[in-house]
Amino acid sequence: MGVHRSALCRGPYGGEGHRAGGTDCSDPAVFEVARHNRQPLLVCPVHLGPSLLLAAGVLWPPEIRLIARAPRPPA
Ligand SMILES: [Zn+2]
Repeated sequence: MGVHRSALCRGPYGGEGHRAGGTDCSDPAVFEVARHNRQPLLVCPVHLGPSLLLAAGVLWPPEIRLIARAPRPPA
């Protein structure tokens, strides 16, 4: 099954300023976190929690959209 949307995680800081080119995480983004006056933040499952607290402009309570199927852990 192909991945039709291969956006990468921008978490947990949101790729602002000197990090605008991306972050240390190169996992596929699975969630999109809505932010005030900013682009939605794309994050992988690992960085979803941290990004809610660390990224700028995150709404509270958070508004999160699932944008891709979460990778399954090995059986
Ligand atoms: Zn990540």
